[in-house]
Amino acid sequence: MSPTRRDFLTMASRGAVALSARRGFFDAAQLPGRPSNTTSGSQDRDFSNVLVIAAHPGDAFFAMGGPVAVATLSKSKGYFLSLSLGERGSPSIPPQQYGASQQSAAEKAAALLGAKALFLHYPDGEIPANDEAKFSVCDVIRQCKPSTIVTHWKGSWHKDHRACYEIVQDAIFYAALPAIVRKQPAHTVRKLYFASNWEDVVGFVADTYLDITPVCEDWLNACSVFPMWRGESGFRYNDYYSSMAVAHGCVSSFKRAVALMSSDEQRIQNIQTP
Ligand SMILES: [Zn+2]
Repeated sequence: MSPTRRDFLTMASRGAVALSARRGFFDAAQLPGRPSNTTSGSQDRDFSNVLVIAAHPGDAFFAMGGPVAVATLSKSKGYFLSLSLGERGSPSIPPQQYGASQQSAAEKAAALLGAKALFLHYPDGEIPANDEAKFSVCDVIRQCKPSTIVTHWKGSWHKDHRACYEIVQDAIFYAALPAIVRKQPAHTVRKLYFASNWEDVVGFVADTYLDITPVCEDWLNACSVFPMWRGESGFRYNDYYSSMAVAHGCVSSFKRAVALMSSDEQRIQNIQTP
């Protein structure tokens, strides 16, 4: 017997968690018609204070902007940290000029979403995965005090994206240690997610779908501030990310959604006998 469409949707979302901005957080298994094959664990699903950390401004807004828009929708805080300006990303505009336009676009896009754009100004293509960068990101974490961080998955062809992944892992570790004395006191990040990004697809497996239906239009509008959004630098970001929001919505029973991946150690669920 061939599987029905509902069987396929159930299989497609098995083990994944669907998070709604409007109706509170719930498991995909609790949707009508879904088997109770997942159980809530001790994972935090808090999108009330979100910091995204990206190698380049385009990644921060296009691949990671949805969760920030969800945070600011509920009057919570959202931050976009770009480790570089992506200043070498234009085939025709000189880096200094292009970097300035990228920074200006990021600031404008963040303001449209009621969030804040932050920058660390490492050279595009040469983001160093060293302790100086890790402590700089640690300081931003302690300053912003996010409950949730969204960043790059390591399965990327882009060396800056892989560097960002490593920097964030260690920055979260440093930020949480009270014995590491910096200007700001220690802060523990409750949840780390990796974003679905067209350049970071090797080994990326979504386990969480976040409902962005109420913020999708605002998020896409903010992305459109960037000149590269419509494919000017070669890749049609607008088509890709707006289509993925629809596709991820289809498999999570939301109208629009973003797919996220939890870090390995945060996939553990603690199930209490009722
Ligand atoms: Zn990038």
